[in-house]
Amino acid sequence: MQIDQEKEKKEILNKYRALLRSSKESLSSAEKKEIRRAFNFAMDAHKDVRRKSGEPYIYHPIAVAQIVAKEIGLGSTSIVCALLHDVVEDSDYTLEDIERMFGEKVALIIDGLTKISGVFDQNVSLQAENFRKMLLTLSDDVRVILIKLADRTHNMRTLESMPEHKQRKIASETLYIYSPLAHRLGLYAIKTELEDLGLKYTEPEVYSDIVQKLKETENERYKYIQHFTTPVKKVLKSEGFNFTVKGRPKSIYSIRKKLIRQGVSFDEIYDKFAIRIIIDSKTENEKADCWKVYSIITDYYRPNPDRLRDWISTPRANGYESLHTTVMGPGGHWVEVQIRTNRMDEIAEVGYAAHWKYKTEEPGKESRLEEWISQIRELLENPDANAVDFIDDIKLNLFSDEIFVFTPKGDLKTLPSNASALDFAFEIHSEVGARCLGAKVNGRLVPLSYILNSGDQVEILTSQKQRPKEDWLNFVITAKARSKIKSSLKDERKKIASEGKEILERKLKHIKIPFTDKTINEMVRFFELKTSQDLFYEVGVGSLDNKRIKAYASERSGGIYSYFRNRFNRRTSVKGEVSPTKDGSGRILVFGDGEEKLDYKLSKCCGPIPGDNVFGFLTINEGIKVHKVDCPNAIRLQSNYAYRILKAKWVTAEGRDFATSIRIEGIDRSGMANDITRIISASMKINIKAININSSDDIFDGLIVVVVRDKNHLQHLIERIKKVEGVKGVKRTN
Ligand code: MN
Repeated sequence: MQIDQEKEKKEILNKYRALLRSSKESLSSAEKKEIRRAFNFAMDAHKDVRRKSGEPYIYHPIAVAQIVAKEIGLGSTSIVCALLHDVVEDSDYTLEDIERMFGEKVALIIDGLTKISGVFDQNVSLQAENFRKMLLTLSDDVRVILIKLADRTHNMRTLESMPEHKQRKIASETLYIYSPLAHRLGLYAIKTELEDLGLKYTEPEVYSDIVQKLKETENERYKYIQHFTTPVKKVLKSEGFNFTVKGRPKSIYSIRKKLIRQGVSFDEIYDKFAIRIIIDSKTENEKADCWKVYSIITDYYRPNPDRLRDWISTPRANGYESLHTTVMGPGGHWVEVQIRTNRMDEIAEVGYAAHWKYKTEEPGKESRLEEWISQIRELLENPDANAVDFIDDIKLNLFSDEIFVFTPKGDLKTLPSNASALDFAFEIHSEVGARCLGAKVNGRLVPLSYILNSGDQVEILTSQKQRPKEDWLNFVITAKARSKIKSSLKDERKKIASEGKEILERKLKHIKIPFTDKTINEMVRFFELKTSQDLFYEVGVGSLDNKRIKAYASERSGGIYSYFRNRFNRRTSVKGEVSPTKDGSGRILVFGDGEEKLDYKLSKCCGPIPGDNVFGFLTINEGIKVHKVDCPNAIRLQSNYAYRILKAKWVTAEGRDFATSIRIEGIDRSGMANDITRIISASMKINIKAININSSDDIFDGLIVVVVRDKNHLQHLIERIKKVEGVKGVKRTN
């Protein structure tokens, strides 16, 4: 392809001049000179390089600089940085070169921009880590983030020339990170454009469908807006207002959201546009003037009281100010009307950049942006914060809407909606959060988990004895509270574990066991823990005491049988537990290949009796427990703790009895209970330990605990009872 070099040079110069013209600030000649130097430098650095579209690369930095100057309203330093933003990354020039030529400030910003470029080429956790870096640089100089947003905006505008899979990827991350960020910074115009372009490349059909439909209905919409505004305009004029009226369609992205959220079709969405009335007003009259306009409009159209938003008395955290109302327009359609001054409109469009311009000197009073940045810095400086957690926490804040609540003294605090009283406590101070016991909301006592509403006045009650708890994480939603609670829980656990480690080392030394990795690993396994930290923690809180440590020690030295023999021989049975009699006769169990006689207990869960197929299980605290092989717990025990399973065998010894229970069901008749008990005790001479019979609607249901010699003895009894008139079933229940 033949490139007309001369024509291209001209085009570049035209673009450069347009950039200078578009600056909102009037530039001094020194500033213009600096911009020219940056332009020449970038031209040289990117010479012979072309974008995917085939255009000279320099078009891109010039376009980014233009967005920075015109759409965000930043000054000459930012324009210089925007022109240079890709130099270090894409050419042989280094950061030192930039610093030598343009000074330290510019070099710092370029460094930030270089660090955060290419952020999303890696795997997930790296993305999060890089996002964190991105915000770190933000806390150095917010211009880094603004220029990055301009860079992304231009890349989205020129996404057409990228291959399709890249389009999707870039568009998704734009929706994921950049548009919420633009929103948070109050850059509405850019946020809206990023969302629309994001939709265009992630859901192309949906996007073009809405665009098409908006076009088809444009005329109709225009007429409606005329119809709506004509009478209002007349009165505004006669009242002496200088104003503009805009009837703007809502963004494609927000229409898409409505379609999904309300589950309606395009035709069923009435508020596809908002009417904006922008007035000239002196700073001191702004509020009164806006309310006057409100009053004029509501003289004509009935307002919906639920939809009044006064962002003038209470601006949003990102600086947005405006008065919103929704009124019933001609034809019975709700119409949103936004009333604001020129100053407010500019802030709404370009966010904080405009704020700086209008900022009056208020010494000692931090701007809201700085407040936000300092919140983020606090999070970033927390060394324990996991990068992936962090991105989730941040996203939470970026997407949530806000509520406004008051301290007892009437100070206003902004929180995301659904924030709890505990979030509020952490918002006041992390110490107040950590010591929070409860709260009084509008004078009424509420729990920590209480969800706050806009307008609530909140007083936090604290106690020096209070400590953050695990379950607190379930009812906080602010990033600040979450990370404070998490790190305090972690700190606490760490502290206890390191104490526990010392204690354990001492104790092992005392019983002459070496404190080695092998010992630690053995103990972790023996006590069914996950990590050595868990082991130290258990020792630290005292749940792993001398007894249990000795249990481990004797297993280590004398083998597992000797341990259980020593430890449990004289153990008496726990009350209520089914247990063999102690008279030395009857059928008893022996264990292992050596058929050792060991003390044991029959487990409650399956209640084995002699003759049942059983095995022994070595428990940590209660010696050997005997389960039936078909016990519901057997599979779990055998698969998880195969090394603690003991073979068990019944051996004969006369006179030992076992308690077991049987369930008897049948059709009730008079004398039935009598017949059954007579068979058990009189005829078979079996003791009844407990009996419980229910009879309702002629159904007999009895549960009887009997004492039998063994399985055969029990089976014999069951057969006898089955023959009783009316009995339909007899079953052993354990
Ligand atoms: Mn770039």
